[in-house]
Amino acid sequence: MKPVYLDNNATTAVAPEVFEAMQPYLTEFYGNPSSMHTFGGQLHRKIEDARDSVAGLLGAEPEEIIFTSCGTESDNTAILSAIESVPGKRHIITTRVEHPAVRSFCKHLGRKGYRITFLPVNHQGQLNIDDLMKALNEDTVLVTIMYANNEIGNIYPIEEIGAILRERQILFHTDAVQVMGKIPVDLKTLPVDMLSLSGHKLHAPKGIGALYVRKGTRFHPYLIGGHQEKGRRAGTENVASIIGLGKACALATGNIDKESNYLSNLRDKLEVSLLKTCPDSRVNGDVASRLPNTANLSFEYVEGEAILLRLNEYGICASSGSACSSGSLEPSHVLRAMGVPFTAIHGSIRFSLSRYNTGEEIDKVIEIVPKIIKELRLLSPFGRDDAGKKIACTS
Ligand code: PLP
Repeated sequence: MKPVYLDNNATTAVAPEVFEAMQPYLTEFYGNPSSMHTFGGQLHRKIEDARDSVAGLLGAEPEEIIFTSCGTESDNTAILSAIESVPGKRHIITTRVEHPAVRSFCKHLGRKGYRITFLPVNHQGQLNIDDLMKALNEDTVLVTIMYANNEIGNIYPIEEIGAILRERQILFHTDAVQVMGKIPVDLKTLPVDMLSLSGHKLHAPKGIGALYVRKGTRFHPYLIGGHQEKGRRAGTENVASIIGLGKACALATGNIDKESNYLSNLRDKLEVSLLKTCPDSRVNGDVASRLPNTANLSFEYVEGEAILLRLNEYGICASSGSACSSGSLEPSHVLRAMGVPFTAIHGSIRFSLSRYNTGEEIDKVIEIVPKIIKELRLLSPFGRDDAGKKIACTS
């Protein structure tokens, strides 16, 4: 049975066109681009074509793109580069809702003597610009704020924040891993100095990412060794995956509005229906400024893990903000930062869609989820009957 895959913020399927573009570079043209012979050396041009495509999706110049191994490497590199570029300053501003690729790395730097400000968010996961303004000071070397949140889909006001920071000449990095291909990004007008992206969130393979570094921004490499990427990221190029990322970006370019409409229609249909058919459910996040593919819902009085296991039996893949299912011991730091009540965090489920989801798949989920919720609530000591009356625990 083909799964109904609604976990696209975790990873996406490699697009068939991407797979096709990559294949010859795994089997036939497997040379090393640094080699003197044509067999390897000819791959240089292919890498540069891919760089053009990545830059094209971002409105960037090709020489502003550095290929990396993943979003995490791009995030870590951007932060390290900033602090090495301005060694006298030791204050970094970020938010409480970043992905661990930024959050844990900032905490690590905090243990090494850097001062880190984690900006709070409100109940909808929104930032308050005044909090940022108050946090800025003479010692601030970098502000790193995600473009969109992987759990709730919130899109942050990167343009507004960038304008504030540019005026003060403070470096600004944004983690745009969840954004690429879902909303338009134009770095010609967007005032950011560095931006991270990851291939496997936009139908390219896992193990390839990119970091945009605006021309004129001082840069210090993270991986030091060979001369690849003009000395900005050592290591033999992952040629096939670079070509895959280029193809994925080329496929996304010019299609964002159409795809975003398609995704938000499906997402809204799912969300509106589940809110109606499942009592005591709610949306987590900022419904006015969200990625088109993401719905994060909480179902009170049930455990996210239990919902996921039951969904799994029907071949439906989603994810949860509750502890075990998210692979950590802690419930979602994003939902906690938003002040979502614990009962709602434990019953939270993220559905994240892609271009490959169909209306029939969404209909299946709309049919099955209310049944699962009802069934689990009947089993739960905190469950309710159809009339909304609490069912007492019998044991
Ligand atoms: N940043 C965000 C917002 C993400 O969602 C992810 C992955 O889930 C990452 C960074 C890390 O990307 P990668 O898995 O390519 O290291």
